[in-house]
Amino acid sequence: MDFAWTPDERRMKTAAVAFARERLVFDLVTLDAQGSFNQEGWKRLASFGAAGFPIPRRYGGSELSLSVTAQALEGLGYACADNGLLFALGAHLWACTLPILMFGTEAQKERYLPGLARGKLMGGHAMTEPEAGSDVAALRTTATRKGDTYVLQGRKAFVTNGPVADVLVVFATVDPSRGSEGLTAFLVEKRQPGLHLDRAVPKMGLRTASVGELRLEACVIPATNRLGEEGAGLTLFSQMMEYERGLILAPALGAMERTMERCIRRARERQQFGKAIGGFQAISHKLVEMKLRLETARGMLYRFAWLKQQGRSAMFEASLVKLHVSESWVQTSLDAVQLHGGLGYLTETELEREVRDALGSRLYSGTSELQRELVARSMGL
Ligand SMILES: Cc1cc2nc3c(=O)[nH]c(=O)nc-3n(C[C@H](O)[C@H](O)[C@H](O)COP(=O)(O)OP(=O)(O)OC[C@H]3O[C@@H](n4cnc5c(N)ncnc54)[C@H](O)[C@@H]3O)c2cc1C
Repeated sequence: MDFAWTPDERRMKTAAVAFARERLVFDLVTLDAQGSFNQEGWKRLASFGAAGFPIPRRYGGSELSLSVTAQALEGLGYACADNGLLFALGAHLWACTLPILMFGTEAQKERYLPGLARGKLMGGHAMTEPEAGSDVAALRTTATRKGDTYVLQGRKAFVTNGPVADVLVVFATVDPSRGSEGLTAFLVEKRQPGLHLDRAVPKMGLRTASVGELRLEACVIPATNRLGEEGAGLTLFSQMMEYERGLILAPALGAMERTMERCIRRARERQQFGKAIGGFQAISHKLVEMKLRLETARGMLYRFAWLKQQGRSAMFEASLVKLHVSESWVQTSLDAVQLHGGLGYLTETELEREVRDALGSRLYSGTSELQRELVARSMGL
């Protein structure tokens, strides 16, 4: 077993950190208060090739392996504090761009991937509905075949990038009586008549990412925009969620390291009762727990990337990664507030924003409870 990073992995992480330090530093107190998508940040990420990190060069991507992609994302997360922007990138990569590469016809790949991989187009996916959250098979959006078209009808909620996206992977049922076997995926473009992308909904954190609702009202799309076979939607969704759950939190590894280093500095500098607070075991042990969470999260996430790179199935590992990294990120950001005392509570120190951003990760891509359920099932429970 070889745990050493390859030169490519090291190089890409160093390059991502350097790029983010130079081009991805924003006034996040203001952007967070405004709560709008960081369009300028997106353009800069695209100029770095991030919108197509794992996509082959022939489709306009950077053709990085999954572990090099994860290294690059970790590097971005370390030096760019805009968690919302990197979340938007994750949704674009794992829930739209990669699924088109994996399941699209050659014509669909030619049509969408070059724009998506270069960041000229933005992608997302729409599964969740007002009445169907964790229980995705309960969705109500219908797709009715009419000649060479499908007519989509329904409502979607929590669509990351929805208000700013150009193309979305939308899930609907071709036959509600077939239950989960009716689920089918479609590629829907922004300008499609009948698609109404509603305003971004205000939210607790990740405010520089745009999350919105959408309505499909007699939305007619060409039958050639079906992604995969009729009835294959649940399998397709599970496979794209495997990648999303395993990799969407790669930037959070960088965020956790950034927070931990800041806390170490504070613990060394802040004096109380005549000594640095890092000398109190209650503080130093918090820092050790941060380090432990970071290293275990890293080990799990990179092992997942390696498994997928080998072409192995890693559904259960993906759930474990998602569960552990999200819970670790939340705990580390909460501990950082506590370690900074009153200062941690102030907006201007940006530690409270980190807590708000991290909390979202327990919900999107399947809640922590759902991940535990999936792991329990894989254990025969
Ligand atoms: C920031 C953000 C971005 C998102 N982006 C997208 C997106 O791009 N596309 C998209 O389709 N969706 C997206 N979502 C939606 C997300 O996937 C859902 O919120 C999530 O799946 C949970 O569904 P729900 O909110 O309806 O909660 P519910 O399913 O109603 O769950 C409510 C509570 O019950 C618990 N629960 C439900 N079922 C079980 C069970 N079987 N066992 C134990 N506990 C259970 C849940 O864990 C939760 O605590 C996003 C959500 C957020 C917060």
